[in-house]
Order: sequence, then C-alpha cells, then structure tokens
Amino acid sequence: MTRSQELFQRAVNYIPGGVNSPVRAYGAIGETPRFIQGAVGSRIFDADGNSYIDFIDSWGPMILGHNNEAVKESVIKACENGLSFGCATEVEVDMAEFICEHIPTIEMIRMVNSGTEAVMSAIRAARGYTGKNKIIKFAGCYHGHSDAMLVSAGSGVMASGVPDSAGVPRGCTEDTMLAIYNDLSSVEALMNECRDQVAAVIVEPVGANMGVVPPAEGFLQGLRRLCDEHKALLIFDEVITGFRLAFEGAAGYFHVTPDLTTYGKIIGAGMPVGAYGGRKEIMEMVSPVGPVYQAGTLSGNPVAMAAGLTQLKILYEHQEIYTNLRDKGEKLYGGIREILKEKEAPCVINHIGSLGCVFFTREPVTDYASAKTADTKAYAEYFKHMLRSGIHLAPAQFEAMFLSDAHTEEDIQATLEAVRKFF
Ligand code: PMP
Repeated sequence: MTRSQELFQRAVNYIPGGVNSPVRAYGAIGETPRFIQGAVGSRIFDADGNSYIDFIDSWGPMILGHNNEAVKESVIKACENGLSFGCATEVEVDMAEFICEHIPTIEMIRMVNSGTEAVMSAIRAARGYTGKNKIIKFAGCYHGHSDAMLVSAGSGVMASGVPDSAGVPRGCTEDTMLAIYNDLSSVEALMNECRDQVAAVIVEPVGANMGVVPPAEGFLQGLRRLCDEHKALLIFDEVITGFRLAFEGAAGYFHVTPDLTTYGKIIGAGMPVGAYGGRKEIMEMVSPVGPVYQAGTLSGNPVAMAAGLTQLKILYEHQEIYTNLRDKGEKLYGGIREILKEKEAPCVINHIGSLGCVFFTREPVTDYASAKTADTKAYAEYFKHMLRSGIHLAPAQFEAMFLSDAHTEEDIQATLEAVRKFF
C-alpha cells in the first residue's frame, strides 16, 4: 500500500470523502488522491516521494511557482511579530493602497478570507447599493459555495453531477437567475422580464470552472452596456483571472470596467485570502461606514497580507511575467492543439494566456451546455496516463490547467511528449 493510500484510509474516517474540498477527490477517477508533502517551482511531491510537473498550482495562486523564496521570507518575517491580532495593521493599509493605486477599476477594497466570502459580500454590497434583489449569473460559472450562488455552478459541483446542493433552501436561490455564457440575448431577456429588479450581473470574465471558456468578442462589453441600461451593477469575479490574465486582470485585458470585482487565492499567494472592491460609492455602503454588514475576525491577517503583497509587488515590477506566460501558453496549449489535430483526437482545446483545458468532445466549447458534451470517462483515462507520466492535472474535466512563471521549456516539452503518447 502506498503512503497516499494509507493516509486516505485514515482520512475517510474523519473527513467527509477524505478531503477538505471536493475537487481534491479522485472519486470519478477511481483512484486515491495523492497526498502532497511539498512543492517547489513547477514541481510537486507526493507522500511516496513521486515528483510531478504541477499544473494545478493550488488552483491559481502559485503564479510565481511553488514556494517562491521572497514570498516565503515575507511570511517568516511577518510570523515573528505574531500571527493575528484581530486589530488594524499597517500591512493591510499597504495592501489596500497598492491594489487601489495600481488597478484602475478598484477605488476601495475590503479583505476577506476566501473567494466564496468575497462573492457573497460583493453581492450583498450590490443589493444594498441598488436596493434591488435579483442577481443574474451564468450557468457553468462558479462563484464559491454561498447559498445564492449554488445554481448551475461549475467546478466540483459540475464534476460531481449534482446540479445544485442539498441544504440550500429555495428561498436562498429564488433571486438568482441563470443566463447562458456568451449569449447576451439570454441576459437581455432576463433584464426585460425582471425590469428594475436586477441588482447585479456576476460573471467569470473568462469561464474557468467549466473547463476554460473565453468570452466571445463583445460579450463582456455587451454585459457592461446591458447593466448600464438597466441600472444594474456588473461584478467581475476575478478569483481566477485577477493578476493572472494580466496584472490588471480581465478588466484590463478586455478593457471593460466592472463596478465591483472579487479576488481570491492569488492575492494571498497561497494563504487564505479573498477581497472585493470597486467603486468608492458602492464600497462606502459596507460596514462600519454604511448599512451593509460584513465582518471577519481573521480578515486582513498580517501573515497572509505579507505573502500576498509580496507576490503582487513582484508581479507589478516584473510584468514581463505576463508576456512570458502568454508565450508559454502558446507553446503548451498550441502544442497540444497540434497533437490533437495530427492524431485526429476527438477533442478540442480552449486556451487564453496561462489557462487552458482539453475537452473530450468534438464540439466547440463556448458555454455550459457545450462543455457538458465532454466525455468525463475519457478525461479520467487521460488524467491517469498523465499522472503516471509525472504530470499533475486537475482530476476532473471541468477545471483549468494553470501555467506559472516557474514552468520551464523542459516542463512544456515533457508535458507535450506525455500528451502525444496518450493520443
Ligand atoms: N470564484 C471563482 C471564479 C472561483 O474559481 C472560485 C474557486 N475556485 C471561487 C469563486 C471560490 O473561491 P474559494 O474556493 O476561495 O472560496
């Protein structure tokens, strides 16, 4: 029995499914999840001493690669002063100031502890500000596991085949309306049907939880226009795209200005952090200034802020990282695209910048319905082959591959070689 198998046997006794987040389970794969002991650069090591080229990258935050020296040093230094005070600290001001000064669409920001919390709070702020209740979200977009957002969500919800979640009372989702990704007319129809009732449209500016689904030309701009016409707020959930697609995230990349933005993991560099921010007059609705209550004992935690701010400063000062990530994306995903073509594989690949996804379907994937045509059993076989070849991918079809600054030319070639062998 491997060490991972031993650990998993222990884990299932005490943790539901043996994991603390369902996307870590290998259920659909019929294998035991690999328990991770450490990681450095582009490599991750399991409890049995196996080494893999990692394309999960903690689902995004490790954009500089694992265990970045400067980030690690900043954490150690911060720890020396204490782990948490539950009081205001200088590093929180540094973080907020840094983001507001460098991201044009953020005038004011509030730190929280996860992407889920960021979205939940942003929606509350949007409702408080507009005085309206309805929210439009897109099928296949995942915005964390708060009650109101668990409607046709992507990621683990999609992979488990559970359309929604038990334990969510109907009342919690009755103001959540579902539109079709990349289909402006579906949004317009809802806006017209519920005139003067829509508080906000929330969108992943690049769908990254139904595999990777980039926005069609004009889609995000169209959302901006519809929100303006109907006096609804536009919320970009940049938990994946923020500081990844470009330093200024998807808003900067596509030149569309949201009213509110949510961030997650990447701004904590691996520590548990999320944030929401945007226009000052909206953010001033939040407590203790305004009537929208939102709080958090560990929010703005000094150790987490130190890690996150160090990473964001590196990204800001070395924006060539984004050009490099784009080039690597071309090489890796473009290389896979060529292999798929050459082998006449029943697959398509979507990619944008450092994010990519091989879908086991011949249909172009542009939304939730087309993503769901993918053969998840075929993906499972691919995943197993890649894992045995030393390549660590997400164990489910509907997740992104994440490239980091630490991935090397050799990593890309080794990955392409493994892909070629599979097909
Ligand atoms: N929004 C998006 C776009 C996400 O991808 C995720 C998680 N991957 C979340 C929100 C929720 O973030 P967390 O898991 O930190 O709660």
